Amino acid sequence: MIGAASASGEHRPQRTCLGCGDKDDQINLIRITIGADGELISDPRGYGRGGYLHHRHDCWQAFLRRKNTHRAFRVNIGKEAKQKFIQILSEGYRE
Ligand SMILES: [Zn+2]
Repeated sequence: MIGAASASGEHRPQRTCLGCGDKDDQINLIRITIGADGELISDPRGYGRGGYLHHRHDCWQAFLRRKNTHRAFRVNIGKEAKQKFIQILSEGYRE
């Protein structure tokens, strides 16, 4: 049977969170790309290689502990770059 996508009339891309590993709608995730100096940046309109993270501290911490992020970015990201990025996220995430 074909036509599962026509039920709601829209199709939202699913992306995998680099923290918890769950799939979710892209709009629920932060898009991460790598800057010119190898630093991680949050870039919702970025193109090319990138990864995704939930807006959750738990996922950010899980991302910090992960070692196989090169699967998403094609390069290895140092722990320092991750820590810096998560610090920036935390500062802009106060509710
Ligand atoms: Zn997550």
